[in-house]
Amino acid sequence: MKPTLVLVGRPNVGKSTLFNRLTRTRDALVADMPGLTRDRHYGIGRGGSRSYLVVDTGGFEPSAKEGIMVEMARQAEAAIAEGDALVFVVDGRTGLTPHDKQIADTLRRAGRPVYLAVNKGEGVNRDTFSAEFHELGFGQPYVISAAHGEGVRGLLDLILERF
Ligand code: GDP
Ligand code: MG
Repeated sequence: MKPTLVLVGRPNVGKSTLFNRLTRTRDALVADMPGLTRDRHYGIGRGGSRSYLVVDTGGFEPSAKEGIMVEMARQAEAAIAEGDALVFVVDGRTGLTPHDKQIADTLRRAGRPVYLAVNKGEGVNRDTFSAEFHELGFGQPYVISAAHGEGVRGLLDLILERF
């Protein structure tokens, strides 16, 4: 069985960049425009002898009330429901936001393993960069740089160990 890894997080944290890294494709749209990836987007990746499915989700707005944001949240909820492991991507440069905390609540309720990836961590001190994210309660945050590929392999190995 291929485990399904679902990438969740608010817009612009680097989910699609990580998707590309994990699937080694340029399929996911990456852009500076928040919320560009509006649908669920599927790819297959390989780590050593294991293969896995990756689902990229659009920006997740748990408190969205109307329009495209509601649809994006609906898609993200559906993706979470089909995930074996949830990769919660946050932006270490922006720091912890109230929106991250809302998403964390949703992920806790999902009852699935959550891995916290603190992205945009190239060229920083990992400990100080990730310190404030401990309070989300998902254990040790993993500092990665999706754009530069740093820490991604280690995180992937850790996730796949479970399956
Ligand atoms: P998404 O909305 O969560 O899918 O985010 P994207 O993958 O589209 O990335 C949003 C922006 O963050 C883009 O400008 C990316 O180039 C940038 N980005 C993504 N990963 C990294 C990273 O590891 N380091 C830095 N510095 N920028 C990144
Ligand atoms: Mg995206």
